[in-house]
Amino acid sequence: MELVKQITLCEVGLRDGLQNEATQLSTEEKIRTVDALSAAGFPVIEVGSFVSPKAVPQMADTDEVFRGISRKDGVEYRALIANARGVDRAIACGCSKVKLNVSASTAHNLANLNCTPAESVSRFAECVDKASAAGIDISGSISMAFGSPWDREIPVEAVKEIVRAYLAVGIDEISLSDASGMAYPTQVYDLCQEMRRSFPQVTWWLHFHNTRGLGLANILAGMQAGFTRYDSAFAGVGGCPFVPGAAGNVSTEDLLHMCDEMGVKTGIDLDRAMEISRSIVGILGHPNDSYLLRAGKSNDLIREIPTGQIKNQVTKK
Ligand code: ZN
Repeated sequence: MELVKQITLCEVGLRDGLQNEATQLSTEEKIRTVDALSAAGFPVIEVGSFVSPKAVPQMADTDEVFRGISRKDGVEYRALIANARGVDRAIACGCSKVKLNVSASTAHNLANLNCTPAESVSRFAECVDKASAAGIDISGSISMAFGSPWDREIPVEAVKEIVRAYLAVGIDEISLSDASGMAYPTQVYDLCQEMRRSFPQVTWWLHFHNTRGLGLANILAGMQAGFTRYDSAFAGVGGCPFVPGAAGNVSTEDLLHMCDEMGVKTGIDLDRAMEISRSIVGILGHPNDSYLLRAGKSNDLIREIPTGQIKNQVTKK
């Protein structure tokens, strides 16, 4: 099987996961979690978002979290923003990587923002200018890139138009996101191949929700297409306010376990990642969407058979 040898994982549970949870983590708990993630080897951590606290109260303390964490060298701490005000907040608390987002659904974007996705992206120019002036890296995400409840499948040409709009404002790190949980592996493989061919200058990320149980299969399809950057969430927490029945991101520990079994390097300690996921589940206090937390690692099943037992079985014959 042709696969990439190594992937880079971004833990998005603190943002994409927790923003959909009724239970709010304290600022202290968030800071502890970020530091535990960096200690476990996570190379990229989405700490929170700088958006309206009225819209997303769970993320209101993102600035405080950034001020409280112990930054580890080589780790990228990023936050989601919606506009230039988000860049201001990033500058003020020392966040050096921000991410914008647009919905690939024209219907969704017209209803919410009264403009097409590409027009939305062109308005991001102000954020890019502000961020670059402050030395802050900026990336973009295209949510519903694989389908939306309003359009069903999104035409490849529509996704390309959004990518071109991102490139036009100077953003060349782009995430293809399946917030609606509608992506399936052959589609992922084909879209990834096409995007890589058409835009070799782009640094790609993939972001899958496990709404219909296809999260890991979609990641595997992405790996076969040569994509190396993936988002996942501890314990598979999360959902999406716009999508009925939406599940969280692929669970981080399930993804790490799959990679460990296949010999794909992540640089992350699975046992420590599982500890973090367990502590989050403990705080949230409800069942979660993680196979590993239920069943443990395959390796944990391997036990030595006591020699006496084998002898007995042999003599019984
Ligand atoms: Zn998401």
